Amino acid sequence: MWPEGMRAAAALTFDFDAEEAWIGEDPANADRPGVLSQGTYGAKVAVPLILELLERHGITATFFVPARVAERHPERVRQIVDAGHELAPHGYTHTSPSTLSREEEEAELVKGLDVLRSFGSDVVGYRSPSWDFSTSTEELLQTHGFVYSSNFMDDLKPYRREGTSLVEIPVQWVLDDAAHFWFDGATWTKKISTASEVREIWEGEFRGYHRLGGAFVLAMHPQVIGRPYRLEMLDGLVTWMRTFDDVWWATCRELATRVP
Ligand code: ZN
Repeated sequence: MWPEGMRAAAALTFDFDAEEAWIGEDPANADRPGVLSQGTYGAKVAVPLILELLERHGITATFFVPARVAERHPERVRQIVDAGHELAPHGYTHTSPSTLSREEEEAELVKGLDVLRSFGSDVVGYRSPSWDFSTSTEELLQTHGFVYSSNFMDDLKPYRREGTSLVEIPVQWVLDDAAHFWFDGATWTKKISTASEVREIWEGEFRGYHRLGGAFVLAMHPQVIGRPYRLEMLDGLVTWMRTFDDVWWATCRELATRVP
């Protein structure tokens, strides 16, 4: 399924949630600058560091962006596009489609497309803010011309959703930085892992994807992965992964083209 000579694929994806993750969780957070500053860090500090890392490794990535983040931080999104990375909607606000009416969901989708396309990007993919769909999502994605979704956890490689025109680029919690690092200040129920522990897990997963010919898709959040120690880990992981000369590095859009 991969280009000639390639045994497996790898993609780096970033859900650039910034403040919207907290506002989506509780709209009252919009008036809590201290809480929101956790997301602001993603736009202010982390994205530039990530762009620098990607440039150093010559990797083109996919950024899933709630359109309201693009409205609040247009200069950052401009930098992402100018560096050649792929943009794809992640809601207008960071609201799970399963909590919206069909009309509200469609409005979020259309607004998300319009805002991201205003940056001159060819926008064809979708990652839901909750990695979940409503009963209308698949139909709406097809109506609005989406090529792929990156939301489900049922495979190791891209595949076509039955009865639809949509390609699915599967993800998994184990390859999500938030599952390992996202401390929850409201409940204190989540632990902060060491970066070396996460490197061990991701390295082991990558060996498996390579052996099985899958598409290793890391799903990261600038405000989470963009801490100095974690970026150092990502840098080392990518350096090691780059020693495999039969791994095709691609954006999600490129991965989707490989599915017949
Ligand atoms: Zn998100």
